[in-house]
Amino acid sequence: MGVPLNQALRVGAYVVKQHLIGNKRYPLVLMLEPLFRCNLACNGCGKIDYPAPILNQRLSVEECIEAAEECGAPIVAIAGGEPLLHKEMPQIVEELLKRGKFIYLCTNALLLEKKIDLYKPHKNFAWDIHLDGDKEMHDNAVSQEGTYDVAVRAIKDAKKRGFRLCINTTLFDGAQPERVGKFIDSAMDLGIDGVMISPGYAYERAPDKEHFLNRQKTKELFRGIFRYGKGRKWKFNQSALFLDFLAGNQTFHCTPWGKPARNVFGWQRPCYLLGEGYTKTYAELMATTDWDQYGTGNYEKCADCMVHSGYEATAVMEAIKHPIKMAVSAIRGPKTEGAMAAEIPLDKQRPADYAMFSRHVEEKMEELATKSPKVRVTRSKAPEAFGAAD
Ligand code: SF4
Repeated sequence: MGVPLNQALRVGAYVVKQHLIGNKRYPLVLMLEPLFRCNLACNGCGKIDYPAPILNQRLSVEECIEAAEECGAPIVAIAGGEPLLHKEMPQIVEELLKRGKFIYLCTNALLLEKKIDLYKPHKNFAWDIHLDGDKEMHDNAVSQEGTYDVAVRAIKDAKKRGFRLCINTTLFDGAQPERVGKFIDSAMDLGIDGVMISPGYAYERAPDKEHFLNRQKTKELFRGIFRYGKGRKWKFNQSALFLDFLAGNQTFHCTPWGKPARNVFGWQRPCYLLGEGYTKTYAELMATTDWDQYGTGNYEKCADCMVHSGYEATAVMEAIKHPIKMAVSAIRGPKTEGAMAAEIPLDKQRPADYAMFSRHVEEKMEELATKSPKVRVTRSKAPEAFGAAD
């Protein structure tokens, strides 16, 4: 198991407590994005297509602490953008650890060797290194040669220094099960503590929209990977039922509130992947979001999503309700043969609203323009058309 025992026990106790007090919607992981600026421009990324004044925004240490305390999730995944570009990241991590949070600091590792001295190993802290496959797969996914070698060097260095370290792997159409399996073997040989693996979400703003997996291809790919991995003792930093869902054996509905996202716009509705509105507070997010509008079967933009942002929390809640099913799945591993579970029908989903992104960018730019005369705002549907002072 890639999840440390103290984390599994604390999160398990937290989930049981939420059920006992009758809380139907509660967060497991806060997805904290203190900035959108990145030092890469990956093909499948839908997070960095903003005008420079928005890319220059940062959540302060205080805002990050407030977000963690406000929502109360036991785990905080710090993503972005590239978190290591944030000058106050070491303080953010330190303050969150002081508050008893389990921290996963996601990074492409390009700056890790330079910045690692600013961090100390801690039982509740893990690096979460972005690695999308072997050298060719990864360098292609992040559109920059040499990044795989830098990441692997940084992984070896971090492990030598005693850090807990996981990898975060996103798969796209064309991934070959055996090749992905061999990549996981090689990552295990590096001594990593866990793998978090997921299909890429089809971001509407991603530069390459041709290579996202649909649900059927996702399930077939994961069955192939898990078939290859049988008996190999891979450590996943994900629940057994979520892996079984990826392999097509569970009909899960999305639980977007399980991983709420806070970024420079505010609290993002409904999830880390989709920006369909923002609120100032977590309480407002929970109270004003019509959750039934989202998830596969409810909304066109959710049709092919099988990402942990929405479905890991479903798997955890299912495990609490059906512990024997979870135990069987954990012992047996994901089922790789036989009929797949029924798919959610899409005939009643509402159509996608593609104007949202531009509206939010316009509103944010207007807000920034009132604060700084250097920011110029032009009304347009395309963010590229915003005049922006860097
Ligand atoms: S299915 Fe859930 S997690 Fe996926 S995009 Fe939709 S709301 Fe977000």
